[in-house]
Amino acid sequence: MDKPQRIEDLGEFGLIDHITNDFVSQNKSTIKGVGDDAAVIDCVDHCRLITTDLLVEGIHFDLIYTPLRHLGYKSVVVNLSDVYAMNGKPEQITVSIALSNKITLKAVEELYAGIKLACDKYGVDLVGGDTTSSLTGLLISVTAIGRASKTDICYRSGAEVNDVICVSGNLGASYLGLQILEREKQIFISDHKIKPEIDRYPYCLQRQLKPEARKDIVEKLEKNGIKPKAMIDVSDGLSSDLLHICKQSGVSCKVFEDKIPVHTEAAQLAFEINTDPTIAAMNGGEDYELLFTVDHSEYDKICKLDDISVIGYITDKSNTPVMIARNGVEVELKAQGWKHL
Ligand code: ADP
Ligand code: MG
Repeated sequence: MDKPQRIEDLGEFGLIDHITNDFVSQNKSTIKGVGDDAAVIDCVDHCRLITTDLLVEGIHFDLIYTPLRHLGYKSVVVNLSDVYAMNGKPEQITVSIALSNKITLKAVEELYAGIKLACDKYGVDLVGGDTTSSLTGLLISVTAIGRASKTDICYRSGAEVNDVICVSGNLGASYLGLQILEREKQIFISDHKIKPEIDRYPYCLQRQLKPEARKDIVEKLEKNGIKPKAMIDVSDGLSSDLLHICKQSGVSCKVFEDKIPVHTEAAQLAFEINTDPTIAAMNGGEDYELLFTVDHSEYDKICKLDDISVIGYITDKSNTPVMIARNGVEVELKAQGWKHL
């Protein structure tokens, strides 16, 4: 096959594969490099987890409707979520920022007030970073460092046929919240006198602007003696993220539309803006819920836990990954394209 010539043809994950393929680990301490929610480094009696995310103004956030305090909080939380997705505990973060000349001191203080709030809430320490200027807009890069015992650590690759597929919380609300913010932004641009109508969707807006990482779910599973076999956090939408588990585990899946958890406010909002709540859940992303599989022998135990839904099961890789819609029709799961390109 000809070598691909354009980034658009590869997509985000194709591009990552393309540029990292030639790298072979040279250190015995590198247990897991590229390809999971966090890298895993051997520290003799435990593992270090390292994950990083870059947030770019105009791509990941819009300062017209994003309070900087919320942005600071979210930029930390999205990284902690990746550490929890490895069944680990985050301990430190570094924060690097590139500031455009329109950012005031007050604005940076607000950003860091949000970062501090997240550090305090999740018990992590800010231990460094870098500060520079930017010609285009604000950039924030956070790296989270965590730990896990060698026996607790959970990869995307551990799912097996007949495992039960579970997801925490609910899905789609963050994407729907973003649709409202975008809608009100357009109305505001067209007429500055119109007051934004956002009070009716507090839950969806909070999910978009100030998400939480599911520390509580990792703790709950541990307390109940349930070890997830494969896990990922839902940042790109249920469909993409479940396909990552399937691909890396060499399996397939069947999920049921009527089992996918959607918050009542999200369902109401989807109805109002003519969007299918299932599409928001499957393809929306930024939910930062945990998607994981457990052995089918744990089914009764997992069903008893609050705020965790069983949405389907793992099948043999010879099957197409599917969602069974409410009307019984099988719909093939597809990964999302690269939204930001
Ligand atoms: P997540 O959504 O969990 O943050 P990503 O989809 O961003 O994960 O990344 C998937 C994997 O690819 C991770 O292991 C990440 O570290 C790695 N990765 C992403 N971009 C790059 C890059 N430019 N160079 C090397 N590794 C990368
Ligand atoms: Mg992730």
